[in-house]
Amino acid sequence: AKSQGRGNFQFFSSDMNAATHERLLLESRLWRALEQEEFELHLQAQVELASGAIIGAEALLRWHHPELGTVGPDRFIPIAEESGLILPLGDWVLRQAVRLLVRWREQGLGHLRLAVNLSARQCHGGGLLPLLDGLLAEMAGHGIAPALLELEITESAAMRDPESSRALLRELRSRGLKVAIDDFGTGYSSLSYLKLFELDRIKIDRGFVKDIESDPNDAVIVAATIALAHTLRLQVIAEGVETAAQRDFLSSKGCDEAQGYLFARPLPVERFEALARGNPTA
Ligand code: C2E
Ligand code: CA
Ligand code: CA
Ligand code: CA
Repeated sequence: AKSQGRGNFQFFSSDMNAATHERLLLESRLWRALEQEEFELHLQAQVELASGAIIGAEALLRWHHPELGTVGPDRFIPIAEESGLILPLGDWVLRQAVRLLVRWREQGLGHLRLAVNLSARQCHGGGLLPLLDGLLAEMAGHGIAPALLELEITESAAMRDPESSRALLRELRSRGLKVAIDDFGTGYSSLSYLKLFELDRIKIDRGFVKDIESDPNDAVIVAATIALAHTLRLQVIAEGVETAAQRDFLSSKGCDEAQGYLFARPLPVERFEALARGNPTA
C-alpha cells in the first residue's frame, strides 16, 4: 500500500491519522528533493579539549522544502531509511563531504577532519565500499589522507547485523578511514561490542552529557567510559556539550574532543569555514 500511496493522497480516507498523513506527505516530497537540490549539509565544529582548537566537523543534513520549510533530519531520516531513499541520499552526502575535503585542502583548511553519519541500510547494502573506493581515489588525487574522512555508525545500526558490521568496519579501517561509534551508551550491548568491533573513536551520547552535573550516576558512567576507551586505545568525543561546567568535567576526565552548542551550532558551510579560520563573524 505504501508504494501505491505515493503522490496519490485522494486514495486515503479521513480515518488516516495525522502522523501517517505527515509521513506520506514527507515521503512523497522526499523523493523529489534530491533532484530539486533541496538538501544541504551543515557543519558542526569538533573541538580538541586540551587546546580548544577546531579539529574537524560533523556533517548534518538539512532539507529545505519550498512549502514545508526546513525539515529536521529526525523527521525525514527515518522515512528515507524505510523507503530506501537513504541509499542515494547517503551517497550524495558522502560525495559532498569529499568535495568539502578537496575545497579545504585547496583553501588552507586541509587539516580539518570531516565526520559523516552512515545509516543502517547504507552499512548493510553492499554499495558503500565501491562508492568509497572511488571517493578515496579522488581524495588521493588531491593528496588528502583517508584519515580525514570519518564514518559515524550508531550502536543500533551496528547491532542490527553484528557480523556484517564487524566485516564492514574492518574494511573501512583497512582503507585508512576513521570509524566512530555514535550515540555510545544508548544500546544495551555497548560494552560487548567494544570487543567485537574495530574502532577509532567512541562518541558519548548527549543523553549522558546532559546530566553530568546533576546526576552522579551519569558522571560516573562518563568518567568510566572515557577511562575504558583509553585503555582500549580508543579516542573519545562527547556530543551535546552545552555548558562550560560540562566541558570542564569532560576535560578533567581526559575526554579528547567535544562537540556541542557551547562551541558552535551546526552552521552553513561558509560560516563554519570562517569559524575554523578564527573569523567567526565573516
Ligand atoms: P546525531 O548524529 O546524534 O547528531 C547530533 C545531533 O545533535 C544533531 O541534530 C545536532 O544538531 C544536535 N546537537 C549538536 N550539539 C548539540 C547540543 O549541544 N545540544 C543539543 N540539544 N543538540 C545538539 P540534527 O542535526 O537534528 O540531527 C539529528 C540526527 O539525524 C543525527 O543525530 C543523525 O542521527 C541524523 N542525521 C543527520 N544527518 C545525517 C546524515 O547525513 N545521514 C544519516 N544517516 N543521518 C543523519
Ligand atoms: Ca552523528
Ligand atoms: Ca550522536
Ligand atoms: Ca545522540
